[in-house]
Amino acid sequence: QEKQRKEMFQVSDKAAEIYSRFLADAPQAAVARSYLEKRGIPQEIRKRFGLGYAPAVESSGWDFLSHQLAEGEQAAALEAGLLVRNERGGVYDRFRDRVLFPIQELSGRVCGFGGRIIGEGQPKYLNSPESRIYIKSKLLLGLYQAKDAIRVQNQAIIVEGNFDLVSLVCHGCENVVAPLGTALTREQLRLLKRFADNVVLLFDGDEAGVKAAVRAVPHFLAEQVAGRVALLPIGHDPDTFVREEGIEAVRRLVEGAESLPEFTFKQLVAEFGLTLDGKSRIVEALRPLVKAAASPLQRTVIISHFSEQLGLSPEQLDTMLERPEPVPV
Ligand code: ATP
Ligand code: MN
Ligand code: MN
Ligand code: MN
Repeated sequence: QEKQRKEMFQVSDKAAEIYSRFLADAPQAAVARSYLEKRGIPQEIRKRFGLGYAPAVESSGWDFLSHQLAEGEQAAALEAGLLVRNERGGVYDRFRDRVLFPIQELSGRVCGFGGRIIGEGQPKYLNSPESRIYIKSKLLLGLYQAKDAIRVQNQAIIVEGNFDLVSLVCHGCENVVAPLGTALTREQLRLLKRFADNVVLLFDGDEAGVKAAVRAVPHFLAEQVAGRVALLPIGHDPDTFVREEGIEAVRRLVEGAESLPEFTFKQLVAEFGLTLDGKSRIVEALRPLVKAAASPLQRTVIISHFSEQLGLSPEQLDTMLERPEPVPV
């Protein structure tokens, strides 16, 4: 078991090496180099994140990677999802014509890849499948590169996308990580907590971004991490925003980020309103949050914050939350 995992890590490291060398040097990778050029990602940042390129079938066939692996390595590459078995029992490469972001664990070992198609096409991103070494709920893109900056600044910024991450780093903001195309998990937050007390969600200002922030709230409570949220103007993500407005504008957004209780309350008021009925719906929505509170002190803090906002005394709100959930009529 352990031996197999080790082989999966080894072949993933080797694949990352092959893909990144290909991006840097190969004539067939010119399309990827100019794509990254266009997106403002210079060589130095490509190197830092180990970015690579898996060539298109037209230029390198279906076995660009597999033909560079020994037979013994192919089994591990299949396990890691780098290769896929076809109906005839042969194998072919999973990643083709994509810019690849290696996903590293804290030690730097490569666990998997996230791949963006060059230009338009579906799916836009293709990631490694879950495997014994790629457990996406426990990994954060960029943490290996960001961990020192996160520790020094005692703050981690979480963005939604791969290019949001590298784009901010290009502009000098280094304490950034991204989940791998899924909602932030409790395990990811626990991982960040080892490096910083403060975590800022810097999400897109669209509905998906707001939803992602709302869903993260119970994890912050459970892990007792002081979370804040900053939303980009609608239509922007951190990548487009920093390129248009500059890094100082990003820093202002981060500095002005709302605390999670403030953010949550605003969202609930926007959803339910502050009528009598709205307030009782807000109280119901607060129930799971208060349940997620990790300590009595935290519970008290939440209750005192929200009771003030709702125009109730803390005792009143506490009593309402103590009551069993109302039976629907
Ligand atoms: P780009 O700037 O390259 O067009 P993006 O990062 O702005 O992409 P979003 O649609 O905002 O793309 O998605 C945010 C992140 O979610 C992506 O960076 C990627 O990590 C992940 N993601 C998006 N689409 C998929 C998908 N189809 N499968 C897996 N992950 C995805
Ligand atoms: Mn989005
Ligand atoms: Mn984007
Ligand atoms: Mn985006």
